[in-house]
Amino acid sequence: MNAPAPTAPLAGGFVNGEVSFWYRDLGGVPEPGDALGGDLDADVAIVGAGYTGLWTAYYLKRARPGLRVAVLEREFAGYGASGRNGGWLTADLAGIPERYAATHGAEAARALQRAMFATIDEVIAVAAAEGIDAGIVKSGLLHVATNRAQLARARHMLAHEREWGWGEEDLRPLDDAEREARLRVAGAQGMLWSPHCARIQPARLVRGLLRAVRGLGVQVFEATPVTAIEPGRAVTPYGTVRAGHVIRATEGFTAGLPGKRRTWLPMNSSMIVTEPLPAKVWEAIGWEGRELLGDLAHYYMYAQRTADDRIAFGGRGRPYRYGSRIDERGRTPAWTVGALWDLLTGMFPAVRASGAGIAHTWSGVLGVPRDWCATVHVDPATGLGWAGGYTGHGVATANLAGRTLRDLILGEETELTALPWVGRRVRGWEPEPLRWLGVHAMYRLYRMADARENRAPGARTSALARIADTITGR
Ligand SMILES: Cc1cc2nc3c(=O)[nH]c(=O)nc-3n(C[C@H](O)[C@H](O)[C@H](O)COP(=O)(O)OP(=O)(O)OC[C@H]3O[C@@H](n4cnc5c(N)ncnc54)[C@H](O)[C@@H]3O)c2cc1C
Repeated sequence: MNAPAPTAPLAGGFVNGEVSFWYRDLGGVPEPGDALGGDLDADVAIVGAGYTGLWTAYYLKRARPGLRVAVLEREFAGYGASGRNGGWLTADLAGIPERYAATHGAEAARALQRAMFATIDEVIAVAAAEGIDAGIVKSGLLHVATNRAQLARARHMLAHEREWGWGEEDLRPLDDAEREARLRVAGAQGMLWSPHCARIQPARLVRGLLRAVRGLGVQVFEATPVTAIEPGRAVTPYGTVRAGHVIRATEGFTAGLPGKRRTWLPMNSSMIVTEPLPAKVWEAIGWEGRELLGDLAHYYMYAQRTADDRIAFGGRGRPYRYGSRIDERGRTPAWTVGALWDLLTGMFPAVRASGAGIAHTWSGVLGVPRDWCATVHVDPATGLGWAGGYTGHGVATANLAGRTLRDLILGEETELTALPWVGRRVRGWEPEPLRWLGVHAMYRLYRMADARENRAPGARTSALARIADTITGR
């Protein structure tokens, strides 16, 4: 028998979908700008105007102002995950370092992690230089353990970081007094803190970047779907852009391109945001530092305190739709909204007690490769390239990808082009129905494992989660 659907209080003016709350915060979903008006010659054509596409355009124009760079976007810049995410500008790697080390050695995997640490400050510096007010606060990331199995995983995570050479200054446990001073999560049994993360307002960053690249002379065409990417050209219904390099920057949407259905799985993630919360809630829970917050469940949650004092809270909703289909404008089922609300108010009972409701819910897709590790690549023979597969860690990674694509396109050998995610080959996902069955089995097992770990007094990760990891190669 199915569990009864959880319910949640909806605030007056509640919105479901409409891309994301982050646009409502900006005054509404943007109208797309001009579409491509005919055939065009460029040096570099970029498909997709999210962080990956825009950062690539930005760094190319900064390096070579004379380069003709055209960006082609199906909807409007920031329509995808870049305008919908949880706002963790995090240095967490997409995937585990062991996988990058397997091909390039441990030192290369460490170099990738160091580059990710530095990327947080790079994004902050460029935002400041370009006058992009993205609500950035570099407050670090709190990992909270809410049961004994999660606590054991926190210890394992810490030991793993130490094995890789990262010290107290990169990740450390908080004692009870520090936890109490920073953020009071009901049922918290332990917390780790890393400084390598900043809070952002995602849509402000992507729209600010759009302004910056246009200011540099990049041509960004919106409402322009690319129907084929081929060596030397990107084809649209309104004309063809001929370019020496054609870069695919479509992450979670990649499955919609011809021949790419099994490349990266479009994994769904859903969010809710509360109304602005009253002072008594913040007195009860703290969170003065605006750290980002995540737990160590298998079906994990992520959250931030917004600039206007709401809690934005995300987690997996319906994880994947049959045939890699994508729910376009982010409408989210009531069941998911209720489940996220229960989780939020379980961690912060003061929110429920305050009588506040949910102001907005939305969902989006992120790209997951078969081995859960990101790639960036340019083939010098064909001029085709891409970056993505960030598995939910794309906000900062897309910036590193943009700088790396710049060097690859310009044919320069740099520290960035030597990083171990460059040119990695990853096999595709299985055909349907195996893909659907595998992903749904994984999340069912994760949900069951989390429930068991919550109920059971033991400190062991449920065997169900290990089975799920084996099925999907996570
Ligand atoms: C709900 C949610 C929460 C997340 N939270 C975080 C987080 O807190 N921290 C983090 O690091 N990562 C997070 N992520 C992941 C992160 O947002 C993404 O990895 C990142 O934004 C990807 O950027 P991108 O530019 O590669 O892709 P996108 O931002 O998805 O952009 C791709 C663009 O390509 C366009 N496009 C697609 N097909 C075509 C076509 N045929 N022709 C032209 N244009 C096309 C799309 O319209 C879209 O604008 C989250 C993702 C989601 C969905």
